[in-house]
Amino acid sequence: MSTLSAPTGLLIGGEWVQTERRLAVMDPATFTVLAEVGDASVAEGLDAVSAAWDGFQSWSVTPARVRAEVLRRAFEIMSSELETCARIISLENGKAWRDAMGEAAYAAEFFRWFSEEASRIEGGFRYAPGRDKTIITDHRPMGVAFMITPWNFPAAMATRKLAPALAAGCTAILKPASETPLTALWVADVLQRAGAPAGVVNVITTTRTGDVSSAILADRRVATLSFTGSTFVGKMLLKQTAERVLPSSMELGGNAPFVVFEGADVDAAISGAMVAKMRNGGAACTAANRFYVHESLAAQFATKLETAFAALKVGPGIDQANDLGAMVSGKERDKILELLETAAAEGLDITPASTAPATGAFIAPYVVKDVLHGSALTTNEIFGPVAPIVSFATEDEGVAMANDTEYGLISYVYAKDPGSGVKLARRMESGMVAINRGLASDPAAPFGGMKESGLGREGGFAGIHEFLETQYYAVDL
Ligand code: NAD
Repeated sequence: MSTLSAPTGLLIGGEWVQTERRLAVMDPATFTVLAEVGDASVAEGLDAVSAAWDGFQSWSVTPARVRAEVLRRAFEIMSSELETCARIISLENGKAWRDAMGEAAYAAEFFRWFSEEASRIEGGFRYAPGRDKTIITDHRPMGVAFMITPWNFPAAMATRKLAPALAAGCTAILKPASETPLTALWVADVLQRAGAPAGVVNVITTTRTGDVSSAILADRRVATLSFTGSTFVGKMLLKQTAERVLPSSMELGGNAPFVVFEGADVDAAISGAMVAKMRNGGAACTAANRFYVHESLAAQFATKLETAFAALKVGPGIDQANDLGAMVSGKERDKILELLETAAAEGLDITPASTAPATGAFIAPYVVKDVLHGSALTTNEIFGPVAPIVSFATEDEGVAMANDTEYGLISYVYAKDPGSGVKLARRMESGMVAINRGLASDPAAPFGGMKESGLGREGGFAGIHEFLETQYYAVDL
């Protein structure tokens, strides 16, 4: 165990395995080492496949009620230890305490939701139209699921995959991002304490990501890949899974438009914008990336957003007084600063709305006004506290600008009333639309994107089906 109450070994077949090579986990607020965890080799990755394969033989035939009870206990343990979880998240990821507590509670909810879904996996019965046979359909667990998660929601992205997989009767190999492995190890420990049998949950932390992942994906005992991360890496993995025609669930990048239409309530839009943009300091796939505001409201919206940003206190996330924590690493902060330099070169006024500490991976919040649609801030996933504002004249223009992207994860629509909001939502090319609100995510709702934002849905009723295979029996009764 590290001093943060998280294990530091690999979890393989129910045992915590120490490795020769170690991976240092950094606190991005101080650039100091928090802990060292295992750095798995290809051989250790394949040991995890063997453990998950062995575990699958019994877990897949364990009654759904028993699987549900393990998940329910995991929900209860996690809910009673939210602060421990939030502390690990905040220290290794950098995010503000409030965001870390929010994530811990959201992550625990996936265990509750899928504990309820485990015993509701349905089959089907009907007659063929010609009455020559009956059609019976069954859903069976796919097998060993390989899961790769990003650093921005280290707890929730893990539970959003582990909970439905275990509910379906699959076993798991989880590979968290090397920036934030401690949270994933802690979550796996919760499942162990909740009674998940050996081999049902395995965790591999590694710096040799490409080699270890490729070996795992090439192993015929692995039945499915569930990936959350960038579209760039997602496409690379799809090429590998194509080799084996492996089912792949992809939760990828976003470039969410936040559109304020004529007649919308500007104060409500500002409150929503603060959540949609600033949750996790802007490091969310669902973060509002581009603000399109009707020309009658644009100046007012920009002034009010600047005032709200100016009030944000930036500093170590673990200090509850701070509203914005650190970016996950100096590298991530520098990517955002480079994007701001490009925007300045395009002639935009780049002035911070507040200040940030000079040491640590901090960045001040920025409102960037008079941005042109198609400029760098609107075509790149910013992943930080920067809000570019573009104005538009007609509803059609606002919709066209919002949809003018290869991404399609989520859109935010502020309209004069919910009815107009729903009409506009139907024109948005995204898997999710938040109407007159700044947050859409819910464990009971289907989360996922259109276009290059992904394949498949997590959460809701759909999430468990990413881990189930449909089998049809043709029967003459
Ligand atoms: P990333 O794609 O760089 O990394 C994601 C994961 O993939 C990490 O675990 C990383 O170690 C692993 N990885 C990297 N190269 C790999 C390779 N060659 N083979 C196998 N695995 C590899 O993304 P990130 O920087 O960690 O996260 C940010 C991105 O994730 C953003 O684009 C964001 O929009 C996206 N994201 C999407 C969702 C969603 O649900 N759609 C949720 C959170 C984050």
